[in-house]
Amino acid sequence: MIETCDSPGLLPIQSAITTMLKQVTAVLDSEQIELENAFGRVLAVDVVSNINVPPHDNSAMDGYAMRCEDLIDNNQLQLVGTALAGAPFKHKVLPGQCIRIMTGAVIPQGADSVVMQENTETKDGFVMFKQIPEFGNSVRKAGEDIQQGKVVVTKGTKLTPAYLALMASVGMAEISVIRNIKVGLIATGDELMPLGQPLAYGAIYESNRYALTALLKTFPVVVFDFGIVKDNKDDLKAVFEQAGSHCDLVLSCGGVSVGDADYVKEILDELGSINFWKVAIKPGKPFAFGQLRGQSNGQLSNACFCGLPGNPVSSYVTFEQLVSPILQKLSGQTYLPTPHFVAKAACLIDKRPGRADYQRGIFYRDEQGELLVKPNGKQGSGIMSSIAHANCYMVLEQDAEDVQQGEAVNIQPF
Ligand code: AMP
Ligand code: MG
Repeated sequence: MIETCDSPGLLPIQSAITTMLKQVTAVLDSEQIELENAFGRVLAVDVVSNINVPPHDNSAMDGYAMRCEDLIDNNQLQLVGTALAGAPFKHKVLPGQCIRIMTGAVIPQGADSVVMQENTETKDGFVMFKQIPEFGNSVRKAGEDIQQGKVVVTKGTKLTPAYLALMASVGMAEISVIRNIKVGLIATGDELMPLGQPLAYGAIYESNRYALTALLKTFPVVVFDFGIVKDNKDDLKAVFEQAGSHCDLVLSCGGVSVGDADYVKEILDELGSINFWKVAIKPGKPFAFGQLRGQSNGQLSNACFCGLPGNPVSSYVTFEQLVSPILQKLSGQTYLPTPHFVAKAACLIDKRPGRADYQRGIFYRDEQGELLVKPNGKQGSGIMSSIAHANCYMVLEQDAEDVQQGEAVNIQPF
C-alpha cells in the first residue's frame, strides 16, 4: 500500500519513483537511423562487431620495426623499406633487417616490435638501436580494443560521443534505435504571460517551460509545446485531451497544489486516472502522477501524466528527481540513480526532518584540496537564481536535521 496525500505522512521519494516506474511501459518501437544522427539516442538492439579493431597489428610509434631477437647481440640492422599508415610494407622483414614505420602502419610479416625513432640513428642504409626493445614493444595488437563477434554496445545504452566513435570503428553506418519519446509540455496559470509583451499588473513571465524544454533536450524526445493554458476547466481539458492523444508523456506545471488542484484532478479523473501525492521532497511536495487516455489514429492510447508544481525551483527539481527516471524507462534505458559524492559542509546547513531536501549549493576545493560545499543563497522554491548560480544539489536525507559545519554532505553535481 503506497502512501498518498490521503494517507497520513508523506510519500518517500524512492517509493514515488518505484511506484511510477512500475506503471510506466518502455517504448519498444525502433527505427533505423544513420550513425551521424544517433547522438543521445537509445540503442534498440545489441551491436555486434564483424571485425577486429584494430584490424591488424600496427605501430603505436613513428620508428623502426624489426624482429626483437635480432637485437639481442647486435644493435645495427639493415633498413629495407617503409610502412606508412594506409601504405603497408608488402614483403617479409628478414633476419638482420628492419623497416621505417609510422604510427598506425601495419606491422609487416617477420617483424614483432617497434623502437621509436628518438632511440635510433640511421647511417648508410643501416639503423643503430640505442634501446633493446622487449618483444611486442610499441605494437598495438589486432582486436585489442574490440574483438570480432563480440557485443560492442548493448541494447538500452544511451549513445554518448564515445559510443558513436566505437560503433564507427566497427563500420556501423546505420543502427537501430528506440523512436524518440513524444513529450507534451503545458504551463497552467492565469498569471502567466508569454515573453515579448509588457508585463500586466499581477502577471509574471512564464519561465518554467524554458527550463523544462532545455532539460528535456538531454533525453531522446520530441517536445510538443502546448504553451500557456488558463486556469479554466474547458481550456485545460481540451489541451490535456489533445496532448494525451499525441504523446507518450504529458508534463504540466502549475495547478497541483491544494486548492488549485481541483481542475487538474477533475479533468484527469475524466480523461484517465490520477494520484495526487505529497512527496517527501523539498522543494516540490505536491506532485501528480497518472495516465491520460487519448484517442490516437482511432486507437485508445495511454500517455503517462506528471503534474509538476508551478514554483520554478520546484518544477525544476521534481523534473530532475522524479520525471527523469520515467523518461529513462520510457526510452528503453535502465534507470540509474544519479551518483552522489561526499563533500564537507563549509558552514551550518539548515534542515528540518520530514522531507528529502535538494538544496542548491556550490562545491569547491579549499587551499588544502578538501572538497567543501555551501548553500547558494536563499533556498525558496521561487528563487530560480539559487539553481542558476549553483553547481550542485546538496542532498539532505528525509530524516536528517541541521548539518553542522565540517559534517559530510552528499552532493549531486549539475
Ligand atoms: P501553482 O503551482 O500553480 O500554485 O503555482 C505556484 C507558483 O509558481 C505561483 O507563484 C505561480 O505564479 C508560479 N508559476 C506557476 N507556473 C509557472 C510558470 N510556468 N512559470 C513561472 N512561474 C510559474
Ligand atoms: Mg497556478
